[in-house]
Amino acid sequence: MTTRSLAQLDRRAEFIRRHIGPSLDEQQQMLKTIGADSLEDLTAQIVPEAIRLDSPLAIGEPMSEVHALERLRNLAKLNEVRNSFIGMGYYGTRVPHVIQRNVLENPGWYTAYTPYQPEIAQGRLEAILNFQQLSMDMTGMELASASLLDEATAAAEAMALAKRTSKNKKSDLFFIADDVFPQTIDVVKTRAEQLGLEIVVAPVTEATEYDSFGVLVQYPNQFGAIEDYRALADAVHANKGLLCVATDLLALTRLQAPAQWGADVVFGSAQRFGVPMGFGGPHAAFFATRDAYKRSMPGRIIGVSKDTRGKPALRMAMQTREQHIRREKANSNICTAQVLLANMASFYAVYHGPQGLTAIAERIERLVAIVAAGLKAKGITPHNQNHFDTLTVPVANKEAVQQRADEAGINLRMDLDGVVILSLDETHKALDVVLLWDVLLGKDHGLTVADMEAQVAMPQYPVRDTEFLTHEVFNRYHSETEMLRYIRKLEGKDLALNHSMISLGSCTMKLNATAEMMPVSWPEFANMHPFCPSEQAEGYKQMIDQLADYLVEITGYDAVCMQPNSGAQGEYAGLVAIKEYQQSIGEGHRNICLIPSSAHGTNPASAMLTSLKVVVVACDASGNVDMVDLKAKAELHRDNLSCAMVTYPSTHGVYEEQISEICNVVHQHGGQVYMDGANMNAQVGVTSPGFIGSDVSHLNLHKTFAIPHGGGGPGMGPIGVKSHLAPFVAGHAVVKTGHDSQNNGAVSAAPYGSASILPISWMYTVMLGSRGLTESTQVAMLNGNYLAHELGKHYPVLYTGRNNRVAHECIIDLRPLKEATGVTELDIAKRLNDYGFHAPTMSFPVAGTLMVEPTESESKVELDRFIEAMVMIRAEIDKVGSGEWPADNNPLRNAPHTLDDIVDPAFDSRPYSRELAVYPTAATRDNKFWPTVNRIDDVYGDRNLFCACVPIGEYQ
Ligand SMILES: *Cc1c(COP(=O)(O)O)cnc(C)c1O
Repeated sequence: MTTRSLAQLDRRAEFIRRHIGPSLDEQQQMLKTIGADSLEDLTAQIVPEAIRLDSPLAIGEPMSEVHALERLRNLAKLNEVRNSFIGMGYYGTRVPHVIQRNVLENPGWYTAYTPYQPEIAQGRLEAILNFQQLSMDMTGMELASASLLDEATAAAEAMALAKRTSKNKKSDLFFIADDVFPQTIDVVKTRAEQLGLEIVVAPVTEATEYDSFGVLVQYPNQFGAIEDYRALADAVHANKGLLCVATDLLALTRLQAPAQWGADVVFGSAQRFGVPMGFGGPHAAFFATRDAYKRSMPGRIIGVSKDTRGKPALRMAMQTREQHIRREKANSNICTAQVLLANMASFYAVYHGPQGLTAIAERIERLVAIVAAGLKAKGITPHNQNHFDTLTVPVANKEAVQQRADEAGINLRMDLDGVVILSLDETHKALDVVLLWDVLLGKDHGLTVADMEAQVAMPQYPVRDTEFLTHEVFNRYHSETEMLRYIRKLEGKDLALNHSMISLGSCTMKLNATAEMMPVSWPEFANMHPFCPSEQAEGYKQMIDQLADYLVEITGYDAVCMQPNSGAQGEYAGLVAIKEYQQSIGEGHRNICLIPSSAHGTNPASAMLTSLKVVVVACDASGNVDMVDLKAKAELHRDNLSCAMVTYPSTHGVYEEQISEICNVVHQHGGQVYMDGANMNAQVGVTSPGFIGSDVSHLNLHKTFAIPHGGGGPGMGPIGVKSHLAPFVAGHAVVKTGHDSQNNGAVSAAPYGSASILPISWMYTVMLGSRGLTESTQVAMLNGNYLAHELGKHYPVLYTGRNNRVAHECIIDLRPLKEATGVTELDIAKRLNDYGFHAPTMSFPVAGTLMVEPTESESKVELDRFIEAMVMIRAEIDKVGSGEWPADNNPLRNAPHTLDDIVDPAFDSRPYSRELAVYPTAATRDNKFWPTVNRIDDVYGDRNLFCACVPIGEYQ
């Protein structure tokens, strides 16, 4: 027996072997299979020499899970979680434990992808549909979308919708009442400036003095007042404008639905429906409008259609509005939104039901009324006559109040002269009322809650008189057992990473390690208000600064801005920085954006948001940017070239040799280079955008840096910039970020975007360390090339780069097979479900193809299982081709197969067996995933648009 020393038994780098799927032995086998000696050799075969980094990353040694958690715990302890009365769109909430454990902390929910394959996503589609129903019921509007990024960006989308749909075509002016939250005004202003629209912020009474295409009010407003906007709505409509209303879901259980008094667009944050404040996010925004504006809706909408058996089935509706199809003509650039958080909010509504929610709201209102009664008894009358959860209190000696607040460990809103604003929430109780009196009046006030409650008057506003949440789903699951089973029922309908590999090209569905996820639930991260005094958020600050430093090191840029809360939002933020920079050097006229035809849809859609004119650059036969075309177009537009947006490695999955030349051409013609960082998983530690020569990139932390996709969000899209762009990144109206950029406009509601998921990327980075990060990239490329090699024996691989290699993903061309046999990419995608797999990315960036990205986290066993499925499917296609199976009746065309198929006696007439349909491999017999609906009819759903909950009877 050999004995090993302590050093040999060192476990510090253990996480690398947990994160990377193939063992060292398997890596050797795979390298041998594809013809490379080592990971280093393979990397040299793939990555152009000129852009190889010459030194290793300086992130540090890998850290064990336990040690990394300990270090993060020490940072978390530097956060001081105070009892918050700040409000401003962020409220304490009690996350129902059954939702916390079974949704937020459950990989069955958080590791799923956007439901592009609806047959294996009916669970989360139902949860989102519930979210839409919730949004419609509370606002009274006819149609709601599936969630937006936050309240402030929803406001910007509302303005854009108003501009698109208003019949007042001559006006470019959007009016914002000055009692709207400052961060909302800030984000709308940034967007308006980019779109060349004029913003007036003034008292709401002045709204009718302007000829506007839309007016934005807040209900209740930031001072807590509930105003009557009926006359305003009439006046806005008389001028052919739209009335946009920011509101609060909980308040709407008490207040009249905005639709009742004439609102056209109604939106807000669903955070207080059981989603922690998280220092700013992630949370979902809701967005509702009239049916007439449905084609103008931003973002995703879930709709009801039917499957081939006529059974109700859900899927994303009217996708032709969206960026992935309409590109620069899309309504918005929304891609990743906040699905996990929308689902949490909808489950919160399901859990509490209409009565429960009303009781929560009434209780808050009552507590606030008691606070107000006490203040009045002491001669202090709050400015707002009526209220839901917020009071604006005149204060003579603010310093004394501040001091007592500090002593009591509470936060109040203190930024406005002469007043203190306080908001109560679900977490507050009678003791907090006394605490507030202590702080506002001094301890010897002598008031009691019981005495003051007796003096509370009836509400002074028109109380809601319409029903809401009457659908059965909101009235059925109120015991914990029922709720638990409902969540589990939906979870079971969805394929997530806890079942099998999700090889979606461009999406990087890697491991979201448990140790990375755990800190998200820590109270020190979860329960911080984003606008708390900065000295209370020291832990957040240090964690964010460290992560920013790591990202600077990894990207080769000079600075990172953490504000954008999705990749597409990062694109927008980066383009804004480019435009502001060009403005500052007297080149504000530059307005042309070159985008290769292979670009992701968000690229042209984001360019549109900044009023850039998109000029498409062709790709050549091998999938690379056509240099002749690029040069010609750069030359043609040299006087007005603002920038080019390129993805690297390209969306075709190859390391283009000429990337440095692309950067040079653009720079020589006066433009900036925006490098889309979605494919950073093939760059980390090997090359970097900054090193290659680009000026700005977003990073999808929810792709490369291990934040889970949540079934369609959350995400984080921080941007890295070269120093000349650093002064032009997003600032924030409420929180001074302390950078040069602090007076710049904001792009998101919160200063650091969805801050509470940043610990995931922090954990990921420190646990892997320099060498684990680099090895992850190399194994991602190994897995990509192994798949390309094996699948290439049966399907043509569309594009390869030097040495016939792909980067970390590959495109399989199905068009020749379709031509020869009639079997489509859709048939293959659905047939993969029968084999227990999620389909790869379909028809992006090339129609009729599948783009496969395995990531470094998939083991050789799993890759081989996927290869086995694809090889068997290839043989099935041949049987269709040879006529053995009819073109319209075969396992591909009939896929996916459901239990309904199997128990249907009519199955006997099919030319293949039940076993082949549902148990094509040994693995499926052992661990079967059952799609719950048959193939869904998209066209029917769009023709008969229905975006609300289905009456339960319909399912029978
Ligand atoms: C995912 C992706 C985006 C958009 O990122 P989101 O976070 O979904 O907004 C942009 N470009 C490419 C190439 C992508 O793959």
